[in-house]
Amino acid sequence: MKKQQLEKITPRDKNFSQWYTDVVLNAKLVEYGPVKGTIIFRPYGYAIWENIQKILDLEFKKIGVENVYFPLLIPESLFNKEKSHIEGFAPEMATVTQVGDKILEEKLFIRPTSEVLMANFFEKEVKSYRDLPLLYNQWNNVMRWEKTTRPFLRTSEFLWQEGHTIHNNQEEAKKLTLKILEIYSNFANDVLMIPVINGQKTEHEKFAGAQETYTIESLMHDGQALQAGTSHYFGNNFSKVYDIKFQNNEGKWEYAYSTSWGVSTRLIGAIIMSHSDDSGLVLPSKVSPIQVQIINVQNTDQIQDVSTKLQQELDQYRINIDQSDKSFGFKISEAEIKGIPVRIEVGPRDLENGQVTISRRDTKEKILVKLDQVKTTVEAMIKAYDQNIYQIALDNREQRTSHAETIEEYQKILDTNQGLVLVPFCGEIACEEDVKKKTSTNSRCIPFGVEQTKGKCFNCQKDSTLRVYFARAY
Ligand SMILES: [Zn+2]
Repeated sequence: MKKQQLEKITPRDKNFSQWYTDVVLNAKLVEYGPVKGTIIFRPYGYAIWENIQKILDLEFKKIGVENVYFPLLIPESLFNKEKSHIEGFAPEMATVTQVGDKILEEKLFIRPTSEVLMANFFEKEVKSYRDLPLLYNQWNNVMRWEKTTRPFLRTSEFLWQEGHTIHNNQEEAKKLTLKILEIYSNFANDVLMIPVINGQKTEHEKFAGAQETYTIESLMHDGQALQAGTSHYFGNNFSKVYDIKFQNNEGKWEYAYSTSWGVSTRLIGAIIMSHSDDSGLVLPSKVSPIQVQIINVQNTDQIQDVSTKLQQELDQYRINIDQSDKSFGFKISEAEIKGIPVRIEVGPRDLENGQVTISRRDTKEKILVKLDQVKTTVEAMIKAYDQNIYQIALDNREQRTSHAETIEEYQKILDTNQGLVLVPFCGEIACEEDVKKKTSTNSRCIPFGVEQTKGKCFNCQKDSTLRVYFARAY
């Protein structure tokens, strides 16, 4: 039974992309929706998202962010005001043109993001410097009609949070942009156990309409990068277009400063591709829907009794006893496929010695533990488990981080080791467009904490002052 189910997962090193799909479907995270590019979140997949939401939402609220909900539809006239923003999104926007048999006088876009709706609201809401800042966030769905799609990584409709803030001075807005980046970075490192690099996007890669875009970048097991979250500083770009003005403390009118920032269900894709293996998911404990799974070897009264007591004793965890009538082997392989960090097996022979078997999902290490030691063992094991999966992801990233001085060197790395490649770069949009044409890759970020030395651009040979990570990316 166990063997049969495991055979469904293609080995990760054989075909990474097929392995990913196999894990997603076998772990019962999602099912494909009837419209191409859409997915149905099954309970187990949605529970991971709910845990992500809970933890991040608390962090946002700690800095004064309030949750709101804005409409799904944006009138065309409103969207068209901001030129670079509409240019960025137009190719993938779904449009409502008809209701019943009546053609609408004005097209309505299904939101790909909500900057313009927020701006339209702020214009009416903001009058005095005293009204500011407004720190809003919404947990919602957006739609971007993608050509190629893959569960979590790229879907036409996806779930995310989008934060939007507006301020009466530039410093405060900039500070908030970076504060959010710090929240995202801590969340990725400490909760998702995914090591990330904080940095700024190049001119070519920054968000449509933003002055500055900041990002957390991660590297997946196969050596491709994944952008895990972004935070944008708009200056007063949007305020000028949408006329968001406030009266300062001298009674003069000024344009306000705004930001926006988001993470999405892509994070679940990042978790899978950072940590999981040939047996299925490996989930970071803090977002795992089940942290400890108890499996009874037999269903005797004595065993039931012990496992119920263990469940009560470990009630600070999301803990579950598998009560199904599936075979023991099937239950074990299911717990593995679902990436449950710690498993406790309660069986008659171990109980004779007052013991149970506890095992870790990551290393598959099994140990016999006395009943009165279970709690402290589980606690230590979960901690070691999270540290270990972080370390594996970090080692992978470090092994695959290199540098190149020329486009030829860069291409050679792409063909072999992949990963993040630090290059001297001029920063010009046309040059990055050229790199994209030659290699189908683009820049990931201008990393913080890396010395920005002068040199010659790796592609165009012009003088450069930037050191930028380029990579193939999801
Ligand atoms: Zn260049």
